[in-house]
Amino acid sequence: MSKTVVITGAAKGIGKAIAKTFAYSGYNVCINYNTSEEEAKSLCEELAKDGCNVIICKADVTDRKQVDKMIDTVISSFGNIDVLVNNAGISEYKLFIDIDEKDLKRMLDVNILGTFNMTQSVLKKSMLPRKDGTIINISSIWGMVGASLEVAYSTSKAAIIGMSKALAKELAPSNITVNVVAPGAISTDMLKELSDEDMKVLQDEIPLGKIGRVEDVAATVKFLASYEARYITGQVISPNGGLVI
Ligand code: NAD
Repeated sequence: MSKTVVITGAAKGIGKAIAKTFAYSGYNVCINYNTSEEEAKSLCEELAKDGCNVIICKADVTDRKQVDKMIDTVISSFGNIDVLVNNAGISEYKLFIDIDEKDLKRMLDVNILGTFNMTQSVLKKSMLPRKDGTIINISSIWGMVGASLEVAYSTSKAAIIGMSKALAKELAPSNITVNVVAPGAISTDMLKELSDEDMKVLQDEIPLGKIGRVEDVAATVKFLASYEARYITGQVISPNGGLVI
């Protein structure tokens, strides 16, 4: 029987690449989106045309009721959930002194509460009763080493790492692994605020000499969900071209 994966924020960017990688590997895929309905629909059509088993589910990951409803839909469509990829996230460039309480709360809501809601819902409804599953949380190199002008983002992404390590220990007796993928600079909408000059500076700082591709992150996520990675839990794997070593 095919395995099932739920990926949050999967209509575009890194999440879309992860969805495609799993779909073409024979997984049943739930593509979660919140606002990117057009992109989600067209991705679903593209994958369905190629014979993949895909559904799209609208849910704001910060809203627990919407999350629970989505997880019920996935379970009734595919039976259970084997892999959860918490990818949905937001970022913001601001001087620390300009960040207000609303900015900080929004950042923590999407990047931390969203991961909390999804993880707790999937655990309760599918993984814990079956004592089986894999959770992969998308952090960032900035959660490992901190980024100037991204204090709120770095805070949220560091929290993802702490949450994942603690959860890995708590869930190991239930045969559930939890790992973190912490990408470096990857070419998506998230980098669109950077000027061409900033992008050039960033690229020059990367030992492998190039900005990462969404497929580089998707391949790492797929490996962590594979049978070959069954002895890996509580780890942070960072596809970053050597930017952070
Ligand atoms: P992106 O903006 O293209 O994708 C993020 C997705 O999350 C979007 O589709 C967005 O609609 C969705 N999302 C936001 N809030 C949501 C909510 N409340 N509920 C459901 N979905 C929501 O950016 P991306 O670069 O593809 O980022 C994906 C993940 O990778 C993020 O967690 C990001 O922090 C992380 N990341 C990105 C980079 C990079 O350089 N692009 C580097 C390190 C980590």
